[in-house]
Amino acid sequence: MPTLPSSPRRPWQPKQVPKEYVAHAARSPEYSTARWQKARKLHLSTEPCCRECTKRGRTVVATVVDHILPVRLGGGFWDTRNYQSLCKPCHARKSQSERTIQPKQS
Ligand SMILES: [Zn+2]
Repeated sequence: MPTLPSSPRRPWQPKQVPKEYVAHAARSPEYSTARWQKARKLHLSTEPCCRECTKRGRTVVATVVDHILPVRLGGGFWDTRNYQSLCKPCHARKSQSERTIQPKQS
């Protein structure tokens, strides 16, 4: 009977996700909850336009509910005052600039 290689990784398992990707995209499990879907939808209905684009005088439909203060930096996940509507490009830009910010040591 064939035996499995002693390597802890099995070929059918997905490759390890790069660390920096995890650090950034380690999405809170809350994102997959129905509660978040509801909160997101509600926020987009109250603020349908991208906040960043609005500041620049453009009207762009928002598709992303962003946490103004990232959750990993202490922002409240369920704090609706911490929400802002963004379009995808604006959200990507914001996430990119936040990537280098480290949480404060406590
Ligand atoms: Zn935008």
